[in-house]
Amino acid sequence: MDNIGRLESPDYVQTSLAGAMALGLEPGSFYRNAYPGSLNLLMTYQDGCRANCSYCGLARERYAEPDKNTFIRVKWPVYELSNIIDILTRPPQAAAAKVQKLGRICISMITHPRAADDCIDIVKRLSASTQLPISVLASPTILQGASAFFNRIKSAGADRVGIAVDAATPELFFDMRGQAVGGPHRWETYWEAIEQAVMVFGRDNVSVHLIVGLGETEQAMVQTISRANQYGAQAHLFSFCPEPGSKLSSYKPPSYGQYRRIQLAAYLLNKKQSTIDAFEFNSHGKIVSYGSRLHELLGDDLAAGEPFRTSGCPNKEGCVACNRPYGNERPGPVLRNYPFQPEDSDIDTIKGQIWDE
Ligand code: SF4
Repeated sequence: MDNIGRLESPDYVQTSLAGAMALGLEPGSFYRNAYPGSLNLLMTYQDGCRANCSYCGLARERYAEPDKNTFIRVKWPVYELSNIIDILTRPPQAAAAKVQKLGRICISMITHPRAADDCIDIVKRLSASTQLPISVLASPTILQGASAFFNRIKSAGADRVGIAVDAATPELFFDMRGQAVGGPHRWETYWEAIEQAVMVFGRDNVSVHLIVGLGETEQAMVQTISRANQYGAQAHLFSFCPEPGSKLSSYKPPSYGQYRRIQLAAYLLNKKQSTIDAFEFNSHGKIVSYGSRLHELLGDDLAAGEPFRTSGCPNKEGCVACNRPYGNERPGPVLRNYPFQPEDSDIDTIKGQIWDE
């Protein structure tokens, strides 16, 4: 084995900083008590990710000072998987309160030739030792036979799959992740994998990640959310935030208005069986109406801020577990994805943003 002595998957994984804090492995407290409901683990290899996505902190050609590599702008410390399992399996009276709030584990693959087999190994070890439901954020590019891989991770104990398409159109995908940046990813491969994942895991058990603000119009983003729904998947939103050292480090995040309008559209499409035909767009592709049934479809959900909460995989009770606190922005008074129920003052702020530029 050439990986002996290296801190690599499957024996080692990275955790998000929030995840490490929830496990008690990093100090700190959560702004507004936004405890993570999902433990997000990232596979790790010394020679890194083979892809070169222009917005990503893990990209092959990203410039970063040694030891300053970040992903989603925060540190992802490396831990031994067995250490994490020890913490997760402590009896309730010995486990820290933050660990008990975890309702799911998610394993993110990176584009590396060993990642598929190692991911199955990690799923097996976690499902043999904890009762928490397990998602896999799969990298379609390295799967030789997506259907067989999805069947293997399902047998190993995963109950859901995520596919990070990220860019909303084939052209943007090519420019940001594909040949234009020397990357191996193909739009068609991703959507074929989504189709196979839905066949194995069933409708609404597959999530498609999309990043708002990579240069797409609102209309193009809504069409791709609708496409994900037609495949039987749910769309989960991320707001672009520039990663230092990446090719897009000087890009600006989308306006709050753009992000709020897409959040509301995604909620209507994912949860309320609304269709894109009901929406109206202006000549720049901006949403100008959600149709005459908006208030009937939303009921009290708008007043409760539901469309603006983080969308992600659920816990066993069916509530969102993957709330990714501050995954899109620094902790601060105005959030994009609310990792908790927004308060009245948050909802006043949100309402003022929806029709803003
Ligand atoms: S929504 Fe969260 S738990 Fe689900 S696949 Fe994406 S990162 Fe993983």
